[in-house]
Amino acid sequence: MGSSFRRRAVHAGVALSLVALACGPKADDAAPPQTGQNPPQQVPQQQYPQQQYPQPQAYPPQQPYPPQQQPYPPQQPRPSQPTPQPPQQAQRPLLPPLIGTAAMQNEVRSILAELLAALGQSNQARVRGIPLVFDPALEVNAYAGCDERGAPFLAGTEGLLEAVDALAQTKATDEIFGTRTYDAYTNAVVPELAKSDKGRAALPPGIIPQELGPDARRWSRARELFDEIIAFTFGHELGHHYLGHTGCANGQPMGPGPSFTQLGQLATALVPGVNQPNEIAADTAGAQNALDAGLVRRPSYRWSERGGFLLLDFFARLERGSAMNPFNPAGIFLRSHPNPGVRLPLVQLVAQNWYAQHPGVQ
Ligand SMILES: [Zn+2]
Repeated sequence: MGSSFRRRAVHAGVALSLVALACGPKADDAAPPQTGQNPPQQVPQQQYPQQQYPQPQAYPPQQPYPPQQQPYPPQQPRPSQPTPQPPQQAQRPLLPPLIGTAAMQNEVRSILAELLAALGQSNQARVRGIPLVFDPALEVNAYAGCDERGAPFLAGTEGLLEAVDALAQTKATDEIFGTRTYDAYTNAVVPELAKSDKGRAALPPGIIPQELGPDARRWSRARELFDEIIAFTFGHELGHHYLGHTGCANGQPMGPGPSFTQLGQLATALVPGVNQPNEIAADTAGAQNALDAGLVRRPSYRWSERGGFLLLDFFARLERGSAMNPFNPAGIFLRSHPNPGVRLPLVQLVAQNWYAQHPGVQ
């Protein structure tokens, strides 16, 4: 079962894993775009050179860890933002490590609940109780779709969890210790992911220096980043549903979501492709949703636009890695899916507008 499922799922998954991040295979194709769901006007018009993607490294956490812990990273004020003082009365707790598939799946469920709670009433009514299912496929993918009964669901792959875990762990390590483990990680896995559908996004052994592995601050920071990336990812997917892109989320009672077998069949039917206006709308809504949900988490770590930056930077690297391999079957999709070079500045713009509406938030 596993192998045939994998093979079939790859059809859509490679494409999405390489480019469309979290673009619902089915979401964008299952229903025609709804009128009135067109993209915001602030779509960047220019192409951005790939070498100039913003590197999401300048956002300090809002509150220090307890005094006995060494604070990190070095405080760097956000240049374009006002400089209000963060709340000093509370300190961010040191979070326990997030290890293993079951723990990560639970974390995603919890984050999805926070995203839902932060939606406006009408959008929330459309997607309340939406089932989240996990797809054992190794491609890096998340998607919004409709099951065989026409009921909406959200899905994330095992490959997505592996990739987000690796991004979070490497970025946390680099922030705290000044290492370059994220570069080492992407240098190791991107060629594998571009070369073969057997490639895995999991963090390879040896990328994190052995002596740094057990550091509690590293694990805690990694969990914060994992949550932040997942918030952007599923904020985007949830957006596809309540924005009407899938056409099946209308506030009806929710089912349990597709079974594993059904999920395989749904994956088989996926047609690679993307609806650019819907993607832009989902990015916009998803980034706002993650920012809104993040705000109410204070004094714990507040999710920012950084989750989107981290994920899209990873996809940009995958795209560049794939483009260098002309035999990569995913190459065809690179021309038909949103370019991370467009999505990154869009997320930046959404965040700028959000901060303008939330003076005092840093
Ligand atoms: Zn999408």
